Amino acid sequence: MTNPSLLILPGDGIGQEVMAEVRKVIDWIGAKRDVTFDVSEDLVGGAAYDEHGVPLADETMAKAQEVDAVLLGAVGGPQYDDLDFSVKPERGLLRLRKEMDLFANLRPAQCFDALADFSSLKKDIVSGLDIMIVRELTSGVYFGEPRGISEVDGQRVGVNTQRYTEAEIERGARAAFELAMKRDKRLCSMEKANVMESGILWRDVVTEVSKDYPEVELSHMYADNGAMQLVRAPKQFDVIYTDNLFGDILSDCAAMLTGSLGMLPSASLGAPMENGRPKAMYEPVHGSAPDIAGEGKANPCACILSFAMALRYSFDMGAEADRLEAAVEKVLADGVRTGDLLNEAGVKPATTSEMGNAVIAALDASL
Ligand code: NAD
Repeated sequence: MTNPSLLILPGDGIGQEVMAEVRKVIDWIGAKRDVTFDVSEDLVGGAAYDEHGVPLADETMAKAQEVDAVLLGAVGGPQYDDLDFSVKPERGLLRLRKEMDLFANLRPAQCFDALADFSSLKKDIVSGLDIMIVRELTSGVYFGEPRGISEVDGQRVGVNTQRYTEAEIERGARAAFELAMKRDKRLCSMEKANVMESGILWRDVVTEVSKDYPEVELSHMYADNGAMQLVRAPKQFDVIYTDNLFGDILSDCAAMLTGSLGMLPSASLGAPMENGRPKAMYEPVHGSAPDIAGEGKANPCACILSFAMALRYSFDMGAEADRLEAAVEKVLADGVRTGDLLNEAGVKPATTSEMGNAVIAALDASL
């Protein structure tokens, strides 16, 4: 059997630092769990621009298409702000998503008990929270045509088009139902069928797909109500499936229920490859954090938890994913904190590397 393959793209700023901690986890799994990954590393974002004049080289793109999973750190930084739009660091990320056709964006919002005080909501509302938002990522109003700004009757008019085909709604829905099957078997689909035709189609298609998943309890909710429910009683949800625009907003809203950006992983999945594994890219939600880059202050947990998602969704290593998530939870419960997770004065924060080492120690203790 061939080794699982992974392309690591640390990117810019703290991307480099947090990825170094994931490397420790990969090495640990190799040494202690006897699973060797074929790991290659390459450039993306500003780092790729500095080397190649583009934010993602063609060879890197080709590699990304071949591997079982891509793990990306973060891209961007103020030194690239004035670059032409076509070569901005973010374009590297968008190219990966587009060419790998990663249509399902998975954004878990999980509240670790030790961090419940960090949420903007009351502890009892978020404690034990574990929801998954599946956002359609490659279509909808961010891509629909016509689009643009034009002059009509002497004034400028801005146009974007919300457009979804049945196939686009369906493939994302299947990904969401499959996830629900592995979780609490509840799926809430969110749209605005009351005022948008694309929402009516969305509801129809999701209902149709649900016939193939009789064990999953399906509900529908208007997305504006969904936003209210997310902050009123988020624990009512298991999996939420929604479109690109609503998903963008709802997933950020859900993210903040859990405390810090430094704790939030994500996965973007596409169609199955020949080996049955989905095309996949995993990345922390946070950016390159130029304000703390190079200072050893970054929290590596979001990137480590993104790798845990890779173990679960790309490598069929659910038990190892559970172990890694439990290790992060233990570290937090033991009080190890990077600066973003501290609100008491006088407590010395752990460095990025100390946090990573604590996770490794917790993994050791789990054996
Ligand atoms: P950011 O996520 O980089 O940082 C926002 C704030 O959160 C900063 O104060 C930062 O120090 C803090 N923070 C973020 N991650 C942290 C971590 N792991 N540990 C501790 N603190 C953390 O967002 P920004 O400042 O708006 O953007 C900075 C750059 O990153 C920009 O160039 C932006 O375009 C880019 N960006 C990239 C991605 C991506 O690569 N996916 C996402 C968002 C922003």
